[in-house]
Amino acid sequence: MTRRRSFDELYPTQASYERYNPVGKGVRSSEFGYQTEAGKEKRIKQGLPGFSLLDYAYRDASYTANHTLEGGRSGMNREFYSWSPPGRARKPDGVPRWESSPEEASRVVTKAARFYGAVSVGFAEVDRRWFYSHTRDGKAFVFEDVEEGYVTDEKAVVPNSHRWAIVMTVPMDYEETLYTPTAMVGTGGLAYSRMHVLAGSVAEFIRGLGWHAIPSGNDMTLNVPLALQAGLGHAGRMNRIITWERGPLVKICKVFTDMPLEPSPPAPGGILEYCEVCKKCARHCPSGSIGEGPRSYEAPEGANPGSLRWWCDEMKCREYWDEVGTSCTICFRVCAFSKPQGMLHDAVKWFIRNVPQLNRFWAWSDDLLGYGGMKDPRRYWDE
Ligand code: SF4
Ligand code: SF4
Repeated sequence: MTRRRSFDELYPTQASYERYNPVGKGVRSSEFGYQTEAGKEKRIKQGLPGFSLLDYAYRDASYTANHTLEGGRSGMNREFYSWSPPGRARKPDGVPRWESSPEEASRVVTKAARFYGAVSVGFAEVDRRWFYSHTRDGKAFVFEDVEEGYVTDEKAVVPNSHRWAIVMTVPMDYEETLYTPTAMVGTGGLAYSRMHVLAGSVAEFIRGLGWHAIPSGNDMTLNVPLALQAGLGHAGRMNRIITWERGPLVKICKVFTDMPLEPSPPAPGGILEYCEVCKKCARHCPSGSIGEGPRSYEAPEGANPGSLRWWCDEMKCREYWDEVGTSCTICFRVCAFSKPQGMLHDAVKWFIRNVPQLNRFWAWSDDLLGYGGMKDPRRYWDE
């Protein structure tokens, strides 16, 4: 049986580790890149399967909430991710704030978060290593003895009292992912849209109980170690969180709060051991961004070195997105853990958790049974 390892065993950092600075990072789309109108027009006119006007409209609409809410998937301190309470759920001044044990608070928040759209919920004590050193526009992230977080022209201040992180996932759809890489796959966009509602609603729920909360999407911190620390999964070979329930088919958002919560145990082990032998994402990655070797402390260009993990060369990956005209995600499609839950797949996961000696057999049979293949986008609208 694969034993549960502590977080420091699963994701150790070197003494030289420094917080990630996102300023100046990221790749700009080329002229006909995946995010450009020119690229869209060109591909529609070329008549490529999965890149018709119908397909683009379908995918782009899935981002509606995300982009309507100004600031996109990141959008720190804006709209649903605002650090200031919108005042929708307000505790009357004459009523004391809701008090409970950390265990009960975690249970209640889990129930509420699931109602607001989470598929999994975990809790961790805030570990400042995962906070960016700066916001994307260059303000220093600092921690101070204040009640409520705030942002000025120079700094983003997180209260020292916000010692707990509620880490949540929203789902991406397996069937939709089978049509990647085309411009018709909108499941990532829909997940980004859902993150706003989820994180914003959970934060407001906590504020309504009389506590403080800062909601966040794909920003402020490295989300993979945070999710790992909250027991939601493990950092797989493709350098994404791999959950037992949905593999990599999730997006992560979180809320920081001063309401004491009970930290979650690490997710059951077995995923790292499976990734060691599987390597399917690396074999299928068209840009060679995912390695087949062991985990390492050394990062590719643009990433933050000093933590032991598998890396994805995000620069190469993004260049391929421009080439193919969409956010590829083939690695998500082929991952053995992406398959939907069900008796058979759950039984295999039991063996992966408990009898790692069979991992090579499962990886071999996954290929043999043709899992992870791409579906024909020309048939999507008829099925
Ligand atoms: S998204 Fe595509 S190019 Fe990027 S790492 Fe995954 S498979 Fe490779
Ligand atoms: S495809 Fe295989 S190696 Fe890659 S993350 Fe999934 S299980 Fe791990």
